[in-house]
Amino acid sequence: MTETTLKPRHFASDNYAGICPEAWQAMAEANCGHAPAYGDDAWTARASDAIRDLFETGCEVFFTFNGTAANSLSLASVCQSYHSILCHETAHVETDECGAPEFFSNGTKVLLMGGEEGRVVPSEIERMVKKRSDVHYPKPKAVSITQSTELGTVYSVDQVKAVWAMCKKHGLKLHMDGARFANAVASLGVSPKEITWQAGVDVLCFGGTKNGMAVGEAVVFFNLELAKEFEFRCKQAGQLASKMRFLSAPWVGMLKDGAWLKHAGHANAMAALLEKELRAMPSLKILFPRQANAVFVELPPAKAKAVRDAGWRFYNFIGAGGCRLMCAWDTTEEDVKKLAWDIAAA
Ligand SMILES: *Cc1c(COP(=O)(O)O)cnc(C)c1O
Repeated sequence: MTETTLKPRHFASDNYAGICPEAWQAMAEANCGHAPAYGDDAWTARASDAIRDLFETGCEVFFTFNGTAANSLSLASVCQSYHSILCHETAHVETDECGAPEFFSNGTKVLLMGGEEGRVVPSEIERMVKKRSDVHYPKPKAVSITQSTELGTVYSVDQVKAVWAMCKKHGLKLHMDGARFANAVASLGVSPKEITWQAGVDVLCFGGTKNGMAVGEAVVFFNLELAKEFEFRCKQAGQLASKMRFLSAPWVGMLKDGAWLKHAGHANAMAALLEKELRAMPSLKILFPRQANAVFVELPPAKAKAVRDAGWRFYNFIGAGGCRLMCAWDTTEEDVKKLAWDIAAA
């Protein structure tokens, strides 16, 4: 496969997409002249204020280069080395971060739970906590949930609150991996505060990259106690950008007129269209309820190969035949129709 036979846009991941106009424009504006380094600039102050406005609370905000760092460092701020983090077995912190949460917390163990459709179940949290309480086992200290989940589903406000209730009962902190937080908010139609601090979230990793930025995630502490000395953690981990304004300015552009939500809503709508097209093909099986910007479909290997040979890229995981088709801020209806056509023809 040469680059020229590849399609202009893919369904592999929302991080295949480029930079959306609002983020690009803000970076261009931030590029006019000199500004103080390491976050002491006006863009970073504005971006932090914009995030506080969005969540309607006085949260502490930090900007990191990527989600692995945001998750790992925020979890490290919750846990001591002898603690454990409870998460779903498909969670990015477990499956896609190369042990970074354990590494940056100096050994905190990640413990896995099952749960339908990629969601953590409160009763499982309790089972894990009660399983052992002796000194020989790492003490559960945090629950990490992913919103939207790795399987393209979302937690409703009530589902997050149910997790929170169990966390409160057992003295656990609640971490939210929001690499696709925007898609979840767009899907649920709730205000950001309802699904975060009002539902017990102590710290949110708010994804910028997959929403349409070049690079960067915001670590948002609603529990201010946990934010203490977090800038030192970022610096030590190589996550303090010296030209910080280029990480923070895109947030100003994205949040100013609601571009973040518009782009996420569009990606979700494209996934809904794709789902509809695929459901019209009776031989195909959709694997999970589509609630955000991903569609999971079972494609026989020969069919998947034919679709790839037609120039499309997408990931296979969740067992043989499970293909993830992910829509981005710039996915077009035409892309979706062409992909569906190639799937039908394969
Ligand atoms: C993409 C993603 C991240 C962040 O990954 P990085 O490559 O480290 O930026 C975190 N969590 C989830 C669920 C993701 O999909």
